[in-house]
Amino acid sequence: MSTWIERDQQVIMPTYGRLPIVIERGEGNYLFDDNGKRYLDLFTGLAVNILGHSHPELQKALRNQATQFLHISNYFYNKPAIALAEKLTAHSIKGKVFFANSGAEATEAALKLIHKWSKNQQEERRGVVVLKKSFHGRTLGALKLTRQEGVYQDFPVTDTPVYEVEPHNLEALEEIFTVHKPAAMIVEPVLGSGGIVTLEEEYLQGLSELCKKFNVLCCMDEIQTGVGRTGTFFAYQHANIEPDLILFAKGIGGGLPLGGIIVADRYANLFKPGDHGTTFGPSPLSAALGNAVIDVLMEQGQLKEGNKVAKELHHSLEKLQGKLPNVVTAVRGKGMMIGVVMNLDGKLVKEIQSDLLQEGLMVDVTQQTIIRLLPPLTLTSEEVQLFINVFEKKIERVVESNVTS
Ligand SMILES: *Cc1c(COP(=O)(O)O)cnc(C)c1O
Repeated sequence: MSTWIERDQQVIMPTYGRLPIVIERGEGNYLFDDNGKRYLDLFTGLAVNILGHSHPELQKALRNQATQFLHISNYFYNKPAIALAEKLTAHSIKGKVFFANSGAEATEAALKLIHKWSKNQQEERRGVVVLKKSFHGRTLGALKLTRQEGVYQDFPVTDTPVYEVEPHNLEALEEIFTVHKPAAMIVEPVLGSGGIVTLEEEYLQGLSELCKKFNVLCCMDEIQTGVGRTGTFFAYQHANIEPDLILFAKGIGGGLPLGGIIVADRYANLFKPGDHGTTFGPSPLSAALGNAVIDVLMEQGQLKEGNKVAKELHHSLEKLQGKLPNVVTAVRGKGMMIGVVMNLDGKLVKEIQSDLLQEGLMVDVTQQTIIRLLPPLTLTSEEVQLFINVFEKKIERVVESNVTS
């Protein structure tokens, strides 16, 4: 009998680089493999399991909804979806929600809405401004907005003009707004797969002002940063701005596929029946979990609890940087979204990652040399200390063996 890994290689398309682990179950902040080995999950399904694994409130919501109905179609009113849209707007902007099933689908919905809006303007508006190294999804519409080497170049992307700007340069942005008259700007308040780059609050405020001044839709891609990930419900809220459109996905479904957009009231009726849709949007199960996720975070205080531990984690990582300043050159990010920038060859960073895995600690690596941490908000102080101690030893081991070899 072949192993699961061999069977995967026979029948699953090789679109993902995988870690050599077959997961059997998850509980709290831990995953267990099929040998019973336990791992502290510090990247939570790539920013999805914000409350860890098998959270009792999520299990309860799932069971309750599963005894009602699993799917009904959008011909009917869907109570969990309505309740969730009320919560999402209560925690963001006054407006309306369109539900889809993933991040890329949220971007597609945003693009179609931007297109409809731009058609209605007296002066022609065309195109979308995005930041260098941004990530907004991999479907053909969203792909062109994803400005990472090798991601979009080989595919027949849309003819919507896309203007790429450096973050933190408001003059360059104003120039593009003036010359090209784009319809919208879409940004991640903290760039995720682009390397955990936190946008300064002043920059977000300036960007928001410029969008107002030039009649450009201000869109926040909160797919990775949303749902408490950076310490506030949505990350743009650190900067006290009011976007026109918010994209969400990843954490909101508590582990089930769910995404969508929140649109400010003045644009909320642009889509007419037939303009956009999806069979599942949203699955009642995903929506039921979404309601439970928001309740646990915002009503039961898990966001506040998580923020305390996130501070400890940042503080400990900064101390580690102080101890090893030649290797750890920066600690970036906000809340439970952290990038530890390593001044090492990408191969050595991978080595640290697999050393940590051996010790039962799961971290992600992005942009080759940045260790990305996306821990659950249920992380404990003890787990922070455990991680930091092992992390320090593993960095030292890899650095030493590289010097001597
Ligand atoms: C993950 C991600 C997406 C794409 O979401 P999928 O669900 O993988 O399609 C888009 N934008 C950002 C910022 C993301 O992190």
